Amino acid sequence: MKNSSHIFPGYFLRYFIIVIFSLSYSYISSGKGYYLLFVEGLVVLIRKVIIIGSGPAGLTSALYTARGNLKPLVISGFQWGGQLMLTSEVENYPGFPEGIMGPDLMSLMRKQVERFGAEFVDDNVTKVDFSRVPFKITVGDDVHEAHCVILATGANAMWLGLESEQKLIGKGASSCATCDGAFFRNREIVVIGGGDSALEEALFLTKFASKVTVIHRRHELRASKIMQERAFKHEKISFLWDSEVLEVLGKDKVEGVRMRNLKTNEESEMKTDGFFVAIGHKPNSEFLKGHIDLDERGYIIRKNWTQTSVEGVFSAGDIHDYRYRQAVTAAAHGCEAAIDAEKYLEAKGVE
Ligand code: NAP
Repeated sequence: MKNSSHIFPGYFLRYFIIVIFSLSYSYISSGKGYYLLFVEGLVVLIRKVIIIGSGPAGLTSALYTARGNLKPLVISGFQWGGQLMLTSEVENYPGFPEGIMGPDLMSLMRKQVERFGAEFVDDNVTKVDFSRVPFKITVGDDVHEAHCVILATGANAMWLGLESEQKLIGKGASSCATCDGAFFRNREIVVIGGGDSALEEALFLTKFASKVTVIHRRHELRASKIMQERAFKHEKISFLWDSEVLEVLGKDKVEGVRMRNLKTNEESEMKTDGFFVAIGHKPNSEFLKGHIDLDERGYIIRKNWTQTSVEGVFSAGDIHDYRYRQAVTAAAHGCEAAIDAEKYLEAKGVE
């Protein structure tokens, strides 16, 4: 199926033509998940629902809306699949007793969604306009329109940005203790960061690791007092203060870290099996600024369950959820948003 911009190159030209020729027009429900607006023989395609994002949240929204015959368009991002595409083995997604590789899980989810007729645009959204219905989503030169939008672009864990760190992601370097901690039974681990996330990860990792060292760039933690107390009194946790990691050592797996003491400038090396970074997350919501309500960190503020500050625009997954951040919780949010979107369309009489 073609999208509207293939029929009309140029967003403004299209609307100019519509205004000129709008003397006779009609909405025709095609029963195929979108509306056709006939204007003097010209056709504009308006979707019932567009989903932005293709991690577990976006794909679950797509699954439910596709099965509900809403024929969703998924704008999946240039690198589709979300954070799980960067993960190795996933052992905590229900239904896979032997575990499954992150990219394989996402491929299966996408296949399942495609089976029910969802369409995909594997590119990034460049602009949104939620000021009136139909909502407009711009992807490069193409403008897609819909009665309803589900936002599921997720959040990315922040990394130190070292080349050596990036090469070892999934090979001992991780940003998710809940996802990867169990691979480090009786091993030594370092955790980078000094906030609540770092201490939470460190405490969680003590279930598996023989020793956890928190490496922090200052001598004072940002984490809450209660988390500090728990971490300080844990026998498996120790702290390395005023230190920055310069390099993650190891070729095919993490073997150690090279560090610099920021007070003395002295460099040192330390052996480790695991390298966990917990210096915060960044929601992928830059393109939404000024269009819906975001909190000071950029997470979507939801109201009435899955709805955003704009009626007809819903959110699912890590784009609003900074607490749980799991594939399974994101998938659940995707299901919730799809059900709410379906109810919204029904209430608006969009069938
Ligand atoms: P955060 O509070 O912003 O802490 C980030 C930590 O990472 C800081 O200690 C910071 O150091 C360090 N850091 C940042 N960039 C760094 C870099 N490039 N190199 C080395 N270190 C770096 O982030 P968070 O811990 O993810 O917490 C985010 C929010 O969620 C907070 O409000 C937190 O309270 C909440 N949270 C709560 C819980 C809980 O209650 N159980 C659990 C997790 C998160 P500096 O201190 O020097 O800036």
